[in-house]
Amino acid sequence: MDPKDLEYFRNLILRKREELLRQIEAIRESAVGDGRDDTLPEQSGYTYHMADVGTDTMEREKAFYLASREGNLLWHLDQALLRIEKGEYGICVSCGKPISRERLEAVPHARLCIECKNKEEHR
Ligand SMILES: [Zn+2]
Repeated sequence: MDPKDLEYFRNLILRKREELLRQIEAIRESAVGDGRDDTLPEQSGYTYHMADVGTDTMEREKAFYLASREGNLLWHLDQALLRIEKGEYGICVSCGKPISRERLEAVPHARLCIECKNKEEHR
């Protein structure tokens, strides 16, 4: 792929990544906010061990982050950036043919050409 095109897609991915990070941050904040609702009127029944609560919250955040659609997409964007660094960007990982520019414009982190993608979905 042309170095100019690579730079173009690199910027495209970086912009998407930033946008995504902001979304994840917003989701994370609202999720954590719900979990820490200590305005409950009846708290006397709970016996919290503070250390456990801290670990739980962190584990839950991590699990949430990894399981979320956004966290998943972030991983794919990072992989695409890695492929740019290695000079493998825009090449189908399955058949080795170039992925069409149209497809990359729509899905900059695409790993499969449209033919292989369709095959995979129908499997
Ligand atoms: Zn392919």
